[in-house]
Amino acid sequence: MRFTRQDEEFRAEVRAWLDANLAGEFAGLRGAGGAGREHERHAERLAWDRHLAAGGWTCLGWPAGHGGRGATLEQQVIFYEEYARSGAPARVSIVGEELLGPTLIKFGTPEQQRRFLPAVRAVRELWCQGYSEPGAGSDLASVATRASLDGNQWVITGQKIWTSLAHVADWCFVLARTEPGSSRAQGLSYLLVPMDQPGITVRPIRQLTGTAEFNEVFFDGARTEAALVVGAPGDGWRIAKATLAIERGAAMLGQQVGFRRELDDLMALARRTGATADPVLRDRLARAWMGLAVIRAYALDTLGGSGDAEASILKVLWSRWHRDLGELAMDVLGAAALTARAEPYDLDNWQRLFLFGRAETIYGGSDEIQHDIIARRALGLPR
Ligand SMILES: Cc1cc2nc3c(=O)[nH]c(=O)nc-3n(C[C@H](O)[C@H](O)[C@H](O)COP(=O)(O)OP(=O)(O)OC[C@H]3O[C@@H](n4cnc5c(N)ncnc54)[C@H](O)[C@@H]3O)c2cc1C
Repeated sequence: MRFTRQDEEFRAEVRAWLDANLAGEFAGLRGAGGAGREHERHAERLAWDRHLAAGGWTCLGWPAGHGGRGATLEQQVIFYEEYARSGAPARVSIVGEELLGPTLIKFGTPEQQRRFLPAVRAVRELWCQGYSEPGAGSDLASVATRASLDGNQWVITGQKIWTSLAHVADWCFVLARTEPGSSRAQGLSYLLVPMDQPGITVRPIRQLTGTAEFNEVFFDGARTEAALVVGAPGDGWRIAKATLAIERGAAMLGQQVGFRRELDDLMALARRTGATADPVLRDRLARAWMGLAVIRAYALDTLGGSGDAEASILKVLWSRWHRDLGELAMDVLGAAALTARAEPYDLDNWQRLFLFGRAETIYGGSDEIQHDIIARRALGLPR
């Protein structure tokens, strides 16, 4: 990837905006949120996301006709890199911006686009993703949540699980079975469902980190308008898969700048604690540094491509790297890693990273599922 002079001017513009705006009421938000720390200062981070939107810095890659900036891939990379470098807080509105929005741009009706895209772009409405169920995770085609038409409304009954941020979401895109008697990928539909209604109950699931960023969501006769199905009824599998495949490459590069900052912090910690004198830890720190260089090179090399195998390789590389960084941090901390800072269960950021890193090799498709994709698509092995 090569950056032109215009790209570098764009970089200067982004950097100046972030410097000028991560000030005043937002100054204290630097570093808030992130892996295992989704609970931190949600209301203030939401206000920050809205401030970003007002400045025209959300949905950069969306076409201008849909309210985006139509930014090139290079510009998106630059934005995410500068965003991470500035220490700006983790975003709270990415499900709408990165998953639902691009799906509606590709498959939504003009009415759906007009109704939902401006609210995603301005961060007026937050979204969550209702795919997984107790009996349908890796095997998503086993979805059992049902929906049927009653006049001009869908009526939905069933249960979703691990629904990130459902407790703060205004809307959920729900994969539901709309053809009675259908099985597997047939007869599913992709419905847009308002969360604030009597037919929906959200129950938080407490995680190893002590916090609850995801939830069980129960649908008991929940309702949504008949027109709020994306694609044709029964065509939900195709739409759901397209959402999963949406390119997260540019955001990924920003994430790596964040990883680099974590690694630099860990190096500094290792110097302070004297862990750098331990030859095994020195070796692991050097390997972590090299691993990140490899991920960045691979991401830059494959960015913008649409290959399933490349996306899976990158997912395996970064999620394992980050999980291993958490383990390395625990070893650098030594015995101190075993104690919480205070009651009740007050973990520091390294402990949160270590515990939450477990989730990263699961969500978005577990390692085993990614290996299977790589085996078939990259190596041509049989199913
Ligand atoms: C932090 C977090 C946030 C999440 N957020 C959301 C969300 O917002 N919305 C949502 O819908 N879902 C969400 N999920 C759910 C996530 O998509 C699922 O956890 C994931 O797809 C795995 O499904 P499962 O948990 O049912 O595990 P299972 O599918 O039951 O897998 C259990 C184990 O079996 C292995 N396995 C399963 N099938 C195979 C196979 N064919 N070959 C080899 N091994 C296999 C898996 O790799 C895993 O190790 C989230 C998960 C986490 C951890």
